[in-house]
Order: sequence, then C-alpha cells, then structure tokens
Amino acid sequence: MYECVFREMVDGGPLHTKLICSILSGFEPVDAEHLLIAPIVFTAPNQNPDAYAGTTIVDGRVTILINQSKCNNITPIEVFETLQHELIHADIHRRLLRDYNWNEELGSISEAFLKMVELEYGTQATLSQHEFMLDYYLDIMAESLIAANNNIGSKEDFLGLLLNGFEEEVLDCKGLTLEDVAVLYGNYISFINQPGNLNSIFSGCN
Ligand SMILES: [Zn+2]
Repeated sequence: MYECVFREMVDGGPLHTKLICSILSGFEPVDAEHLLIAPIVFTAPNQNPDAYAGTTIVDGRVTILINQSKCNNITPIEVFETLQHELIHADIHRRLLRDYNWNEELGSISEAFLKMVELEYGTQATLSQHEFMLDYYLDIMAESLIAANNNIGSKEDFLGLLLNGFEEEVLDCKGLTLEDVAVLYGNYISFINQPGNLNSIFSGCN
C-alpha cells in the first residue's frame, strides 16, 4: 500500500501536492539511490515499535523506514500523511547531509539538527524535529493533505490525523495534551467516514 500511495505522490501523480513536490525536488531524480524507502520490522532499541515509520541516514543516504508490523492497520490516507511527515524529516536530513556535510564523526543527527536550526532560526528555536514541524510545517501539511484529498475538508477536520503520534512533551509546548489529540483524532475519523469526504484515489490504493 505504501508503494501504491507513493507512486501517486511522485511527479505527475494526483497526490503530488506543492509540499510533496518541493521536498521531492531536492532528491531528484527520485530513486532509491537518493531516497530509500524500506520496509523493516522495528526492533532496534531506538525504534518505537508503535511508530508507523521513521527517517534516518544509512550509509550516507536518506532512508525512510516503514514499520512492517503496522502496515495492516493503516488506511491509504494515513499512509499519505505518514509519508508526508517522513518526507519532512527526510528533507531535514538531506539538508544536514548536503548543506552541512553531516557525517557521524561530527556528532549525532539530533545535535546537527539543533545546530542547523540555531543557524537558520536563532538559538532556542526548537528542541526537536517534531517541535520544529509543529512550528513551521503544520499549516503547510494541512494544506497538502486537503489538496491530496481533492480539496475536501478543512485544517480542523485533519488536525487529529496530523497530530496523531506526536510525543506528549512536544504537544505540551503547543498547549495540547494527548487527550486533546485523541478528541481531534475522533473528529477526523467521523469526518473521513462520512460519504463523499474521502478522495476516491485513496480507496484505489487499498
Ligand atoms: Zn516524526
């Protein structure tokens, strides 16, 4: 299903939104040599077994890891949102590699990320990639999701999907709790299950 959704997200596909276009253009040509999307089982100590996916650098290449054991309980629109979320991580990793020549000898990826943010946005701008995402990408992600859903829905309808999976500490800096997100996620579910509210392109990727 990831493969099917991603195929629709690349150039010329109906899910090639402005955000997806701008991120993927940094990886041109979009092939496994520049951006690897690999299904694995999340067993490493630094991998959250409940996460749908994660992004890292493997052998100098930006790699999106898909958690295989979660593949069966995720819908195509959630796959789109997961890939969009990971592509933002991927874009950050690409910038660390290309613009800042990051390699393991220079320290951890998260240290490098904080240095990058400090240079581009000032000190104390953020504590993590997820906080950064909420500060600078939430509206853009919502717009992209609405565009992918054939312009059906509003930011409010999709907030629960967008915020699902963020850590408590990260939500906290936005004044949100896990309970708030659970309510928002419920709103998203009732919205998307109403007839006509889901772009048929997503039903085609099941
Ligand atoms: Zn993430």
